[in-house]
Amino acid sequence: MKSFRIADYGQPLQEMDDATPAPQDAEVLVRITGCGVCHSDVHLWEGYFDMGGGQQASVARGHTLPFTLGHEIVGVVEAVGDGASGCQVGDAAVVYPWIGCGACPACEAGLEPSCPRPRNLGVHVNGGYASHVMVPDCRYLYAYGDVPLELAATYACSGITAYGALKKVQPKAEGRHLLVIGAGGVGLAGLLIAQAMLDTEIIVADIDDKKLAAAREAGAAHTVNPTDDGARKQIMQLTGGGAPAAVDFVGSDKSAGFGISALGANGHLVVVGLFGGALNLSVPLLPLKGLTLQGSYVGTPAEMKELMDLVVSGKVKPLPVATRPLAEANQTLQDLAHGNIVGRVVLTP
Ligand SMILES: [Zn+2]
Ligand SMILES: [Zn+2]
Repeated sequence: MKSFRIADYGQPLQEMDDATPAPQDAEVLVRITGCGVCHSDVHLWEGYFDMGGGQQASVARGHTLPFTLGHEIVGVVEAVGDGASGCQVGDAAVVYPWIGCGACPACEAGLEPSCPRPRNLGVHVNGGYASHVMVPDCRYLYAYGDVPLELAATYACSGITAYGALKKVQPKAEGRHLLVIGAGGVGLAGLLIAQAMLDTEIIVADIDDKKLAAAREAGAAHTVNPTDDGARKQIMQLTGGGAPAAVDFVGSDKSAGFGISALGANGHLVVVGLFGGALNLSVPLLPLKGLTLQGSYVGTPAEMKELMDLVVSGKVKPLPVATRPLAEANQTLQDLAHGNIVGRVVLTP
């Protein structure tokens, strides 16, 4: 099998050729047909996450080098182990990468992304910048119907992340309003998925007017620029007293602060972005307005099933995606690190 791997953090990925492994027990060998390049790959490649205030969190403890990045994988089942059930050779599937140990209370409750011993593909174990990937079980594979494979790949990360956050605000947003903060990659995915899963009027807030234009084109009923005077008042008027539900896809002190200020009584803000910063929160506002502030990280296998059913049904409008050959993995990572990529790039072996 071929792979492009981190040999040294921050250095160009190295192309390697190894024997293709044979699946054991419940394992499934997937021949990769596409793998998205996500912004978090840049941090994993650099070797650390910036936690704000000059603090860095090393990723080196999570895996050993050389290491294969890539957690937005689609492919075709090439071989299955003796104990595998639920999939067969030739099946085309999106791979759910947020895999846990399978034995702890979180995993047993179906909350694999909360597992303390994670085996996330492309984060802890070798991922999708390769010709093949080993998946521990058929149950991590999801059919994607007639959806183009490069689009299907994006549902494994930006899609499931947006869906997991939207599920949390669904009861408050249904039949009312939803404020989407941030119209970047995941925010735009969230806007498209929200239209398919919720009956709600969507307001998008972003400090970039170009992104607001893109959000209107993608179906936002209203857009607001938080840097404009009266932005909060505008939301109060649009929602009749404040948003009942909001999702912050940016995750900065400013975006979360704006989200809280835009909530109405009993409003619910879910923060899903990881930009960074520290929040200055008026504590009495929580009881006085009955607010809920919640975090959300990717989504569970059950949510992945719900999302893919929605996608296969054709209800989710497509996100723009470009493809590049796998051999351009290095260049793509560098381009992403330097902010030279608009939208999603999916590598195809
Ligand atoms: Zn990702
Ligand atoms: Zn576990």
